[in-house]
This record gives sequence, C-alpha cells and structure tokens, in this order.
Amino acid sequence: MEMEKLVSLCKRRGFLFQSSEIYGGLNGFWDYGPLGVELKRNVKEAWWRDMVTAHDDLATLPGAPEAYEMVGLDSTIIMHPQIWKCSGHYDLFHDYMVDCRESKKRYRYDQVRGRWVTHRDRRVFITSSAEAAEQEAENLTQRALKFFNLRGKNAEELKWEGEVVSLTQAKDFTQVLGPDAKELGTLTEPREYNLMFKTIVGALGSDDDAAFLRPETAQGIFVNFKNVLDSTRVRIPFGVAQMGKSFRNEITPRNFTFRSREFEQMEIEFFCHPNSSRGWYEYWRNRRMRWYTDMGLANERLRLREHDPEELSHYSCGTADIEYAFPFLPPGEFGELEGVAHRGDFDLRSHMEGKLDPHSKPELKVELGPDGKPKWRGSGKDLSYRDELTNERYVPHVIEPSAGADRGTLAFLCEAYCEDEAPDENGKMQTRTVLKLHPRLAPIKAAIFPLVKKDGMPEIAQDLYRSLKKKAPAFYDEKGAIGRRYRRQDEAGTPYCITIDGQTLQDKTVTIRDRDSLEQWRVKLDDCVEEITRRVGG
Ligand code: ATP
Repeated sequence: MEMEKLVSLCKRRGFLFQSSEIYGGLNGFWDYGPLGVELKRNVKEAWWRDMVTAHDDLATLPGAPEAYEMVGLDSTIIMHPQIWKCSGHYDLFHDYMVDCRESKKRYRYDQVRGRWVTHRDRRVFITSSAEAAEQEAENLTQRALKFFNLRGKNAEELKWEGEVVSLTQAKDFTQVLGPDAKELGTLTEPREYNLMFKTIVGALGSDDDAAFLRPETAQGIFVNFKNVLDSTRVRIPFGVAQMGKSFRNEITPRNFTFRSREFEQMEIEFFCHPNSSRGWYEYWRNRRMRWYTDMGLANERLRLREHDPEELSHYSCGTADIEYAFPFLPPGEFGELEGVAHRGDFDLRSHMEGKLDPHSKPELKVELGPDGKPKWRGSGKDLSYRDELTNERYVPHVIEPSAGADRGTLAFLCEAYCEDEAPDENGKMQTRTVLKLHPRLAPIKAAIFPLVKKDGMPEIAQDLYRSLKKKAPAFYDEKGAIGRRYRRQDEAGTPYCITIDGQTLQDKTVTIRDRDSLEQWRVKLDDCVEEITRRVGG
C-alpha cells in the first residue's frame, strides 16, 4: 500500500487534518476529523475496556501468575517540576540534533540517512532528502549525480560503498552533504536537546516557576501510588491505567502521526512483588501483543522485539517493543507501537529518595547544593507497600506496558486500507477502496439506505436509523445511486449497510451487506437492530 493513498483518504474523508491548516499548518501537530475522532475514541475505548473495566479480577487469566486487579487514573498534564528531576527526564530525556548552516534546517542526528560514494578520487557521504523511504535510493543517486555534475547516463561512474546508514556512523562531517545542502560540510556537530516543552505557571512567573508539559503519562501514576492504595481496596498485584495527552518537542516530527509533538498515550503501571516480576513481565508482553492481533493487526506485520540484555538498565530484566511494519518505513523495518518494560523498583524509589541510580547512565550528574548534598531530592514520602497477610514491607516492582493511541490508530488504518474489486450497480467489476477495520474500531457500525426516495422507503429507513442509533453509531444516506452510497461507506470502514427496498414494503425484510465479503442477505426489519448490535459486539 502506498502511504500517499492513505494520507489522501484520511484528508478527503475526514480522518485526519494537519493542525492549523488555514494558517499554513504547524509541523508535528494533527487534528482528528469527524471520522478520525470516532476511530481514535474506539481504539482508546477498546483498550480501556479490555484492560480495565471488563478485566476479570476474580479469575487467573491464561499466562498470568495469579488473579489481579486493575483501576484507572486521570492525572494532570502539568505537574510539580521536581517530578521530572526525580524521573530522570530533566537530565536525560534528550535527543541529538544537527543544524545545517546552509539550509538553516534542523535534523535529528540519528534519523539522517546516507551512503558513502566516490567519484574519481573524491569520497563523499551523500544524505537523503527523500520524505518517503521507497524513494531513498533514487534520491541518493540523483543527489550524487548533481553534486558531481554528472548526467544520468554516467551513473555507473559513481562507486557506492556499503549500505545506507545513519549519519551517526559518518565520523567526518566535513565530507557530508546535508539533506538540503548544495555544499559539503554544512552540518554542525551534534548537540543535545531536551524534548520537554517548558511553560511558566502563574502570572508573575519567572524562570523559577518553570514547569513542563508531561512527556509521558506514567509519572502521574507513580506519584499517586499511595493515594490509589489508600483510597481503594486494591492489593498487590494490581495495575493502574491512564490515558491522555503527552508532549515531546521532537526535532523532526514525521511519518504522518507516527512522530508528533502532541500525542496520546495509553499506559499501565503494574505493581507486583519483586519475586514474581519476571513472570508478570512475560504475561504483559504476551497479553499486549495479543490485544493488537485481536484488534486486527496481521501477524506478519507485527512483531515483538526483545531488547538485547546489554541495552537494558541493570534494574530491568526485560524490555520488549511491539512493532509494526508501517508502509512508510523501508522494507524490513518496523516502528514501535508500544514498549513493555520491566522497571524494577526504580520509579517508586526515585520518587521516594530522589537518588538516581548510581549504576545508571554515567552522563547523569546530580547538581550539588551548598551543603554538598544533591540539590534536588525525592518527595521523602514512604512509597513502600506492606502486605497485610505476611506483614512483609517492600518497594514493589513495576511492569510498564506503554502504548501510543495515535500510533495504534495509524497502524489500524494502514492495516485496514485495501483496494479490491467489487461489482457496481450494473454488475460490472470496479476497483473500490475499502477500510477493513475491526467492527469494534469502525467509526460507523452500520449505514441505512432507502433504495429510492419514494413509496415510504425513506420513512421506514429513518425509523430503523433512529432505533439503531440508540444502540450503535449509525448513518443515514438517501442521496445518489446505491452503488455510490456503498462505496462511500466502504471508504469510511462501515462494516454493514442496510437497504430498504421494494421487498421491504411487502414482507418487512431488509438487505444487509457485509463490507468485506460483499455478501448480502435478508433479515426481518424487526430483527435488524439486534442482528447489527450482535455483529459489532454492542
Ligand atoms: P521512539 O523511540 O519511537 O521515539 P519511545 O521509545 O521514545 O519512541 P516511549 O517513551 O516508550 O517511546 O513511549 C511509549 C509510546 O508512546 C510509544 O511506543 C509510542 O506509541 C508513543 N509515542 C512516543 N513518542 C511519540 C511521538 N512523538 N508521537 C506519537 N507517539 C509517540
């Protein structure tokens, strides 16, 4: 599937719009249109329902070490700035960027890709300026030809070396041709850049009142750990789920909504006894992977990638990413949908004591105050847990399945998009565009059409529409040829279309058409609402 086709469908049918479009847009921000908002709400609703409200806390689910409870939380976007110091985001949450002196553009260091090429005795690292991955190779050739002043027919004079690699592997920046530059060596050395958006709290705010928009929802859960324990009857093992907006000042937002500056996360912090945390990690990794396949992502485009042991922090015994082969990535590459991390007791301990782990990244330096002690500390509150049965006190371990609602929504859209052949109203086969979304995710569950605008058909159709709408999102359409009405619903991902026709007037039956199989069958008008709600899981 070509990504441009999906992007254009999203705009045309109101799934996604560029934010602030009439003012020229704002890079890295996206608005969800009338169909998109329903789709994304359904993704979040399915997650919340499957993970929290419909969770059976009395049963030991397959693969789980024991039964567990789940509760929800909704914390604020702006929190005490100390939280980000203790979490490590203030000191460590950065990317490296490079600037181009010639084009004045800024790039994320590790995302610039290029390849070494030699012509005569000049060896240059040509970087790609192609937006789409599939154009990368062609773009590199064109840029190299232009740089060496060669014609297309002389392309074989170029001696390419190795594979296309990240700029991080090109040591000598003087021989690099930046993605939008005409001259060599215009890229600056990489510089560190904190990804948190800063803001000021209060009218008289100075820099001392600086606060941050949260770059993840997780910390809101850790700092409320005691509140949740004291206000509910949950006992370990239990999970707290939260979804909401997060903000990251990404250097190069790109790939549609995949890398945005404002996005939504769906996160769970699962608290358990240190002795059983490994088993819980495995459970959550598999549980979350299964959720994506249940929602319709195909196995061959979905994978679970365990991080190498050397990539892990010493407190963690595992991190796995659930990844999807997005069509905008080069063949064979996958993009992260969700990370499932075993975080040990690192987070609760940091908020308790404020000491960052001495074994963690060496570049972490804690600023010392005049008394020689670290300038910032944790909350000083006891965030340990006492087991009422055994009287054991411990700091729980945490398993964190952290998903992105926008990346999930984008993956479901990519997976659903397809073009196939369907007969038009004259029985002629025509190409149609269809979104084969899982019925739970589809923005509209059923559309209702009177075949013609007379003989009482619209009245029957409108009555059915009103009854169905009480149970499931439905759409009424009486305009244009029936074939075109079907096509519009196929593009919107509507699983069922119901038609009121001449036969309805005689025997009170209607036709239901299935979006994917194109099968049509008749049901009694009076049974129609029940049939649709049963099929879409309402
Ligand atoms: P990446 O390496 O792609 O930047 P990450 O490892 O920093 O992602 P996490 O910090 O693990 O991401 O965040 C958890 C989830 O939040 C990700 O799996 C992703 O679904 C989502 N997410 C993170 N950053 C963005 C972003 N800029 N735009 C959209 N979703 C994001």
